[in-house]
Amino acid sequence: MEDVAMGGIFLFLLKFGSRNNLNNKRREESFVAHCERTLGFRLPHQDTIAKVLRKLPPEQLEKVKMELMSDLFNQKCLRNSRLLNKYYMVAIDATGIVSYDHPHCPHCLTKTSKKGVVTYYHYALEAKLVTHDGLCLPLATEWIENPEGDYVKQDCERKAFLRLAKTLKKNFPRLPICILADGLYPYEGVFEVCEKNEWKYIIVLPEKALSDGVQGELGEAKRRPPKREHLCMKNDKWIDSKYRFKTDIFYHKKYHLHWFQCLETRTKYQKPNEKKDKKTTEKPEEFCFEYVTNIEPTADTIHALSSGGRLRWKIENEGFNAQKCGDYELEHKYSRNSYEGLQNYYTSLQIAHAINQFVEHSSVVVEMLKEHSKETIRNIWQNLVAYMIFVSPYDGSLITPQPS
Ligand SMILES: [Zn+2]
Repeated sequence: MEDVAMGGIFLFLLKFGSRNNLNNKRREESFVAHCERTLGFRLPHQDTIAKVLRKLPPEQLEKVKMELMSDLFNQKCLRNSRLLNKYYMVAIDATGIVSYDHPHCPHCLTKTSKKGVVTYYHYALEAKLVTHDGLCLPLATEWIENPEGDYVKQDCERKAFLRLAKTLKKNFPRLPICILADGLYPYEGVFEVCEKNEWKYIIVLPEKALSDGVQGELGEAKRRPPKREHLCMKNDKWIDSKYRFKTDIFYHKKYHLHWFQCLETRTKYQKPNEKKDKKTTEKPEEFCFEYVTNIEPTADTIHALSSGGRLRWKIENEGFNAQKCGDYELEHKYSRNSYEGLQNYYTSLQIAHAINQFVEHSSVVVEMLKEHSKETIRNIWQNLVAYMIFVSPYDGSLITPQPS
């Protein structure tokens, strides 16, 4: 069973892209020997793995993933990434996994276009630990799914969040968490869950959200001069952030909220000797970010809180986009007719992606990338596979391909 689970993770770890590609490599004697001698597992045929992953209850592999993550917390590896040295930042977001033009399984979500075309699809709601240095690690997954048989309303992200919160609390009961979430989340249900679990939160506040209690109180705070300003240079641009905040807003007399706003102006840096013409003088770009939180902001902490809130984007960039575009083929249909298979392949991908992030952030790989301006992660990974095929795991000698 260990070999099978590892074989599924291995498919994503070395970014083979398809089961067939890995099966082809598996025909090479030294490749298989490397798996056994160097990596410590026997690599099964991918058809065998697929058969098992279609039957394995998805909770089991999900549990393995959460135990791996718990180990990281126990070893205190991630302590430096905490917000205000206290809270682990956990971003919440949903992503589409696969879609079909026919029913794939009894749990598919459906949507019907204006022309009456029905699409069947699967969505997962993710809780991922995000850090300032770019890590995005999977803590828990909740599938947004319909029940078998009849139902009145389809499952949705908000309902799935309540289930996800339960899983998170159950598996990481004492972890000090700060939830980062988008504009779908500032509402009573989420505040209540977070208070109950003793979690902090920083949630994007869209203009019309909480209009019955909060928005009215903010008008004056928005007109006041900023309470803190922060200037820094990033990628050739001056970033000027002006912070305003208002503390102690009592929403529905029950939830003790704070609000903050970051007005950001990005201006391209003009070198002193650079001629000013239309090409080099770009208009400054302006952005406005607003949040509600239950961490009381002060002039000292507001910059950290705002940078923390912005890390929510990591779950889309480092998380989902990397998995969809970064050779992981998240949307590739690894298990066509089985919901369990789909879930288990997805979890295998999450585990592999987490391991690879640590490898890609390691000093060895970072040095390799610096050696050549054109060196890429993809090339290093391809070299690794080539090494497994052409270098003997027994004595390090070169294996010359035999003419077939
Ligand atoms: Zn389905």
